[in-house]
Order: sequence, then C-alpha cells, then structure tokens
Amino acid sequence: MSKIDLATELEAAVVAVRDAASVCQSVQNDLVNAATLEKKDRSPVTVADFASQALVCSSLSGNSKIDAIVGEEDAADLREAGAEETRDKVVEHVRGVRGAGVSATQALDWIDLGGVDPDDSTERYWTLDPIDGTKGFLRGQQYAIALGLIEHGRVVLGVLGCPNLPGPDGQLGCLVSAIRGQGAEIRPLNGSGRDGIGAIRVSDILTTAEARFCESVESGHSDQGQSAQIAAALGITEEPVRVDSQAKYAIVAQGQAQIYLRLPTSKQYREKIWDHAAGMIVVEEAGGTVSDIRGHPLDFGHGRTLDNNAGVIATNGPLHDAVLKAVANFVDVG
Ligand code: AMP
Ligand code: MG
Repeated sequence: MSKIDLATELEAAVVAVRDAASVCQSVQNDLVNAATLEKKDRSPVTVADFASQALVCSSLSGNSKIDAIVGEEDAADLREAGAEETRDKVVEHVRGVRGAGVSATQALDWIDLGGVDPDDSTERYWTLDPIDGTKGFLRGQQYAIALGLIEHGRVVLGVLGCPNLPGPDGQLGCLVSAIRGQGAEIRPLNGSGRDGIGAIRVSDILTTAEARFCESVESGHSDQGQSAQIAAALGITEEPVRVDSQAKYAIVAQGQAQIYLRLPTSKQYREKIWDHAAGMIVVEEAGGTVSDIRGHPLDFGHGRTLDNNAGVIATNGPLHDAVLKAVANFVDVG
C-alpha cells in the first residue's frame, strides 16, 4: 500500500478505536461497580468486549479498504440459548453509539466480521483486541483498545486507545498510533480527527541503572520474580511500573519508562498477535526496539499467535542489548 493509503487507513482505525473506547466507557459507567468488583463478576467485560468488537468492525467495514479482521471474539456464544441477557446488553450499548435503529442481528453480524482466521493467503488484515487488559478494565485502571494492520506478515500500522492513560494535555484518555516508517503520534482520545496531535519519542537514557521498567499487573502473564532479579542485576532501583494492557507499550513510546519485560510463565503459552501488533509498531516508530526474550523480531507471519517467539522485551533502543544479556542470565531462553 502507498503512504497515502496508509494515512487513510490510519484515520479509519482512529475513528473505529474512538467509537470502541466510548462504548467501553459507557459499559464501565453502567455496569462496573463495587458489587461487581467484590464478586469478581466478569460480565461487564464480556459485554464491553463484544460491543467494542461490534463497533470497530462496523466502523472499519464502512471506512477501510481492508475487509479481513482478526478479532479476539466471535458471536457464537452470544447466539446460544441462555445468552439473551448478555446479548441484550451488548446490543443496547452498541445502539448507544450507533443509534436505536441497529438490530440485534446487525450487531451480532458486526462482531462476526472479526472472526477471520488468517492463513498464508490472507495478505492484509486488521487484528483487534477489543479490550486488552480486561482485569484493568474491571478495576477501573489501565486497559486498551488495540488495532493493528498486518501486511504480508509485517505490522505496518497500529492504534492504541487508552481511556485511562493521561495524554500530553494532562487529560485522561489518549490515543497513540504509528505508520511504519512515519514515526509515532499521540492525540487526545476524546477529540476529533487530528486535533491536538503530536509526535512521541522514546527516552534517550543510556544507562540501565537510571531506567524504569514496566510489566503486567498479573503475575500469571509475566514472571515477576525473574524480572526483579533482572532489574537488580541491571542496577535498576525504581519500583516496576505495573499496568495492565498494551498501555505498557504506550508508556515506553512516550519515554515514561525505558523497558517493558514480558517473561514467559510457561513454555507452552504463545503470545497472541492482537496483544502486541499495535504496541510493537508504536514503540518501534517512537525510536525503540522490540524483540522476544531471545532477541528475535516478533514474527507476525503465523496466524493468530506468535508461534516462533517467546515473551517480549521492548526498550528505548540503546538499553536493548544490556537487557537481553541480563534476561539470558536469569531466564531459560531455550
Ligand atoms: P497484560 O494486561 O499485559 O497482563 O496482558 C493481557 C493479555 O495477556 C491478555 O489479552 C491475554 O491474551 C494475555 N495472556 C493470557 N494468558 C497469558 C499468559 N499465560 N502469558 C502471557 N500472556 C497471557
Ligand atoms: Mg489482550
């Protein structure tokens, strides 16, 4: 695709992510409360996940030239008997953004647009995580709507909507984006078009002892014991920045931390493409480096998972080799 086409696709992706973020925020206001938190009730995230995917898919199907969307969800469960209550809530929230005229069938069909399974013949597709960081969403903390564009196994464009991450204007809610070869940008999530847009750049710190690192809140998603050992070996004294979702990539891309460690907690787990496509390109285009724990590039040419990779290391660039060496001392990189 030409540069001009990618600029058009970027603005289509921004509109889609803004719509999805607004539905996530309305679900949060309506359904997440002290009682759901107390009961560890995940039903609000289920509603927001489906509604978010419906909005991204409907928006892209109208504004983008690319028709394949590889999403985390499909609507099969929502079509089952017994799912009426969830389905009604999903449809109600989709109508809140798209208007009262949207039928239930239409909303479910939009969700299913994201059910594509990429294979070797799918040359160009979007990959979507409708709510990345579901635990953060439930806690009222960080989560992201993550949309990446993959061409011939390479990420060429990414958008991350982060409703609870402050933007450069200090307002809550930012949207970071990147096109391959054209740098990374940030704008307010709740704005319109390119209003308030600015370039972002990773930190230029050159010594690991001055660095801050981020990792998952969830110890099941990244080995926090190993990261503490690695941080100590690198002379890092600051506490880790623990946040859910690809907000971690947005934080590194803006220079607020220099390192993101995602250390495998099991040999079997394979990272999902929608958990990394948008975040990776944003950090790379902000001047940083992203690899797996062995230093290999993330390889998006194998369908829904990063089959040839283990874990993820993202840095500001100059610190990458030192971090990889320290990781190899504490982690079995296979
Ligand atoms: P985070 O918010 O960074 O902790 O990552 C959230 C993502 O972790 C979810 O979207 C899941 O797809 C993914 N995930 C689930 N299980 C694992 C695991 N065992 N290791 C790494 N990531 C996982
Ligand atoms: Mg996710």
